[in-house]
Parts: sequence; structure tokens; C-alpha cells
Amino acid sequence: MNKKVDFYDSHLHLLGLGYNESLIDLNTYKSIKSIIKIKSDKDLILGRGWHQNNFEEKRYPTKHDLNKLSSEKPIIFIRVCGHVLVCNDKAMELTKINKSSLQIDGGSFDFNTGVFTEDALGIIYSLIPTPTKADIKEMFIKGNNILLKNNITHCASDDFSTIQVPYELIIECLEELYNNGLMQVSLYEQVNLPSKELLLDYINKGYHKKKFNGFRMGPLKLLADGSLGGRTAYLNEPYEDDPSTRGIKVFKDSELEELIYIADSNCMDVAIHAIGDGMIDIVLNSIEKSLMKTKRVDHRHSIIHAQLANRRQIKRMKELGVSVIVQPVFLNSDIPIIEKRIGKKRANESYLFKTMYREGIRVGFSTDSPVEAVNPLDNIKIAMTRKSIKFPELGEFLPGEKFTYEESIECYTINNSWLSYDE
Ligand SMILES: [Zn+2]
Repeated sequence: MNKKVDFYDSHLHLLGLGYNESLIDLNTYKSIKSIIKIKSDKDLILGRGWHQNNFEEKRYPTKHDLNKLSSEKPIIFIRVCGHVLVCNDKAMELTKINKSSLQIDGGSFDFNTGVFTEDALGIIYSLIPTPTKADIKEMFIKGNNILLKNNITHCASDDFSTIQVPYELIIECLEELYNNGLMQVSLYEQVNLPSKELLLDYINKGYHKKKFNGFRMGPLKLLADGSLGGRTAYLNEPYEDDPSTRGIKVFKDSELEELIYIADSNCMDVAIHAIGDGMIDIVLNSIEKSLMKTKRVDHRHSIIHAQLANRRQIKRMKELGVSVIVQPVFLNSDIPIIEKRIGKKRANESYLFKTMYREGIRVGFSTDSPVEAVNPLDNIKIAMTRKSIKFPELGEFLPGEKFTYEESIECYTINNSWLSYDE
């Protein structure tokens, strides 16, 4: 059979993908020694894509490393997950972060290492000049072209949070692009509006019903916790390799509950980024409470990532009709760290994507690009083999969770279309 498949990626960051083209790609560097030799003539040295496991040194870079690259220019190196960054002293000096600065809610920073996480990233991001409307449109077109090259003709994408601009400017850009025939990839927007004020503003202006030529507004997308690698995914029990932390909640429980209810009661679905088992419980509780009030039976709510969803939580997802948007390709970088982060017992109940599928939960595959390369073939390969392409020597991770080729294609096409009412 030699039929071309048109893929549907159910969660990525199209604008982020285009934006990344303008950053230093740190994914290609094999050591911290080599990243501190990077040459740049820009006033702000901005890179993305490092992962400590890819470095010879097997650790996070710190400000001490980056200070060697430059002490005059600010440097920001964002981790591959987008939830953690490291910067140099100059960047902290310009944003007035010092030894006695107070921590902020929903994120953290360490003056001694220059490592920032979650909501604290915004402090450092304030150094990045705001792109113009023309820049933003250019980035979308770049993202569109990368997708087409990879046979992805449809995507669901989170674009409101990539750049610090009003969300309405992003809508304006998309409207002009689609109405002028400049975008060929069909886009279902995962609407990232992380506050009650923003969400109500959006609904009151009627944006949730907006669609044009190849574009439709989709679910409320919220980032509720962080990443496993960054130890910011919110767990029910402490991290195995750092008992001082259980990760991070981006929202107060009551806040998250309210946001979900506002969306649900306005017939908007929700697609919530939740990785840790602790956050998955909170999200499921919030969805359950909301559905009890709204009595919606036709919702297509989903959890994005759901890596540490255990068997009990999978049963609950099924009961509540909650779907999952998962990234088998995350195993590529995660296999070396899963057990370290959460220990053997919890590791045995993680990345249970096939169990979800068997339970009858709607499973959609995605790459979360630019977190991972957008190429669907690596994602399918890892779904089918449960083996890291980067670390094949580590063997198969829970091989009972392998998908067949046909199932993988189903998760990459039919299931993703269903999630966006495009079946
Ligand atoms: Zn994402």
C-alpha cells in the first residue's frame, strides 16, 4: 500500500513553531561546553531546545555557564519543554532580580543558578522585543509551511500564549492570513486565556463562535502544571529524586474550577495541559463538578499530555467522557528520567496510552511541536516500539502499551478530527 496519509496533529504551537525559526536551536548542541561557545551578533542571545540528557554533562546549564558566553548581553536559553529557562546575570540585572527578590505565584526562580520556571518565565521574557503584526503573520506562514512539508494538513494549535500581545491581535492576523488564502493548513484554535477576565471578555465579544475559511475557534486551553523533566508536573506524592517538591500548580484549584465551568457553561470544550497525577485529579474533579451543573452530554473535553494518569484516573476519564491528547514521542527524551523522577512503582503506571485506548477513551496523537519535531513518523515509531530513538540502549518502556500501525494512524487522523468536530 502506498497511500499518502494527511495527518492531523491535535496539539501543537503553530506560532511557536514559526517563532522558533528565529531562535538559536539548542537541540543540536551535545554539551554545555559547546553552548557557551555560541556566536551571536544580536543584542539579546535567545535560544531554545536544550535538554539536560542531551548534554555530556547530564545537568541543567546555570548562569555561571552562560556568564562565560557573555556578561554584557542578556542570554535566555529555554528548555525544550518551554516550562524552564536559564539566563545569565545580565538578564537578571535588567529585570531587577536579585538575591532578595520575592518568589511569585505559579512559578519559581533561583538567583544562584539563573533557572526560572512556569509563571516566573514572564519576568525574563519581558526582555524579548514584541514582534510586529507583520512578524507574527510571517511566523504563522513559516509554521504552516513546516506542517505541509510533514504532510500535516490539519492541526489544533495554542497560539494566544506564545508572544506577549493581546489575543485579539493574534485573531486579526489569522483572519487576514486565512481570508487572503495564505494558510493552507486547517486550524482549530486551542484558546489559551488563563484568567476569568480574559475568558469572559472573549466570550462576551462572541469570539468563541468565530470561524473563517479554514479556521475555527476550539476549546479553552489551560496550562495547569509543568513538565516531568523540569519537576514541575504536579504530583500527589513528592518527587522521588527531590522529596522537597511535588511540582507546581499554575492555578488555585478554585480558579481552575471556575475557568472550566465558564467555558463548559458557554458550550466551549476544555483541553487542559495536565501531566502529574495530582493535577489530573484536580482537572477531573473540576470537569466532573462542572458537568454536574451544565449537564452537557455532548462535550469533547480533553486532557493534554496525561503522562502520569494512573489506572484509577483512566477509569474516571472514561466515566466522564474525557478524551486525551498524548505525545508518544515524549518517550524519546523521557525514558531516561521517568523512574528517576517518580520511582518504579509510579513509573509502572505512567504513559499508559494504549490502556487508555483499550478502555475506550478517545486517544489523539500530537507532537506539541516545537517541543518535539512535528514529523509524525517518529511519533508513530515510538508509539509502536515504546523505545527511544535517542537512547535505544534503554530498551522498551512498558511494552504492553504498544500501538499497532493501524491504531496509530487512527489516533493521528480519525480521533483528532473527532476532537475538533471535524469528523
Ligand atoms: Zn503545548
